[in-house]
Amino acid sequence: MTTISPDTLPDALGAPAREFISGTHRLLIGAERPEAADGRTFATVDPATGREIAQVSQGGAEDVTRAVVAARTAFAEGPWSSLPASGREQLMLALAQAIEDHDQELAEIESLDNGKPVGLAKYVDVRGAAAHLRYFAGWPTKIEGGVLPVSAPNMLCYTRREAVGVCGQIIPWNFPLLMACWKIGPALAAGCTTILKPAEQTPLSALRLGELALEVGFPPGVLNVLTGDGETGAALVDDPGIDKIAFTGSTAVGREIGAKAGRALKRVTLELGGKSPNVILPDADLDAAIKGSYQAIYFNSGQACNAGSRLFVPAERFDEVMGALAEQADAARLGPGLDPQTQLGPLVSAEQRDRVMSYIDSGREQGAELLAGGETALSDSGGYFVSPTLFSVTSDELRIAREEIFGPVLVASPYDTLEEVARRANESEYGLAAGVWTRDLSSAHRLASMLRAGSVYVNTWGLVDPSAPFGGFKASGIGREHGHDGLDAYLETKTVWTAL
Ligand code: NAP
Ligand code: MG
Repeated sequence: MTTISPDTLPDALGAPAREFISGTHRLLIGAERPEAADGRTFATVDPATGREIAQVSQGGAEDVTRAVVAARTAFAEGPWSSLPASGREQLMLALAQAIEDHDQELAEIESLDNGKPVGLAKYVDVRGAAAHLRYFAGWPTKIEGGVLPVSAPNMLCYTRREAVGVCGQIIPWNFPLLMACWKIGPALAAGCTTILKPAEQTPLSALRLGELALEVGFPPGVLNVLTGDGETGAALVDDPGIDKIAFTGSTAVGREIGAKAGRALKRVTLELGGKSPNVILPDADLDAAIKGSYQAIYFNSGQACNAGSRLFVPAERFDEVMGALAEQADAARLGPGLDPQTQLGPLVSAEQRDRVMSYIDSGREQGAELLAGGETALSDSGGYFVSPTLFSVTSDELRIAREEIFGPVLVASPYDTLEEVARRANESEYGLAAGVWTRDLSSAHRLASMLRAGSVYVNTWGLVDPSAPFGGFKASGIGREHGHDGLDAYLETKTVWTAL
């Protein structure tokens, strides 16, 4: 396997991240670090320069089978299966602590591999990852069954909540470490074992997470990491030894996985795309609404499933709001994630940049009015930068107004009445998130109940917390992550009848 010489890596990397990145990046199966069975590797790339940063093993079907054996063995035999609930708690707390102890290293790895600003990586991704594991570390000791008042005489009937088994967990590239911990947190708390498949664009932080898990004492086979591409993910979904699939990514792939899981009767949860409406009401604190709406779309360069990508503004305030948003978008500082001055990093890949640019072109062609951005930026860098883009539209039928773009592109339109805006906001195949900006309590809660979305934000946008369920209505997914709901997705209920 070829690796890049450490002196070609960016100067801003600290010694620990540099050492990790310039090492080898093989699969993690049980306690071993094998190459892929067929020896294949792929390059992961720095989106700020387009340069290769490392070669990574590409897992195939044979590697999936090996990982499933390791995960099954750990689940059914050995120290994980006999560990008391408090032991799972302690290991999960230790992993959360290890993530915090390595926060700068992990943030730099994430920033280099994904392109996001290093401060965002540290304070949102890495801290969020540790917080998530801490929250779920509290659960193992609180998973309880119940004794049931059945009618049959002289009968003890009770329920046990048991781990689903071996999980295949497939994650996207937009928040790689955080998505990894959103996935493994409830699985480990429930007592499952797992095979984690990070996205091919951002494989590095998941491998580091797997190493840290072994270092803090997780038994081998509990957390396996299979780097690779969509084929690796598909092999994981197809393997009969997997009991549950958890997926975050595009709605198209989610549909396919849901269909396969249905046929095989595997447990499945899906966190998919969105085209989330953000509604400013006439009485809103306009400064706060403009600041919040800006962050709602441009945070993480628009690469967030719950981005507020459709903005609805009262007709009489429309020009004022557009002017303020365009001014902020024009002033945004784009740059490499490792530059502390950067506000917006590059998009994750050339493919994603081209996809976003083709949406921008379609907006122009279909008659949307471009108010800011609309271009690639910093092209001398070789990176995949797109300037924050603002369109004004008068029809909800345009492709840019209907389809998920997953980039820094906001589509805004004026409206006249509350009923009109609620109807238009809901006219989408998606239902992940929605927002309302108002000072009026009754309008806030009326709209919150009318909007068909898994999360509604009032006078804020995009907050997540491990205790607060997150997931989608309609084509935005099936099931919820976080909180009780998130844990339940990794548990089976067993009913035990005993004649006394
Ligand atoms: P994607 O194809 O859905 O990828 C998500 C994950 O699924 C990745 O780990 C991917 O592997 C894996 N995968 C791909 N095909 C698979 C298959 N047939 N079976 C099992 N796993 C499979 O998403 P993408 O191509 O990265 O991005 C495309 C679009 O999806 C974006 O532009 C955006 O609209 C949407 N997206 C949504 C989210 C979200 O959070 N809801 C996140 C990312 C992207 P590889 O990446 O290694 O191929
Ligand atoms: Mg990369």
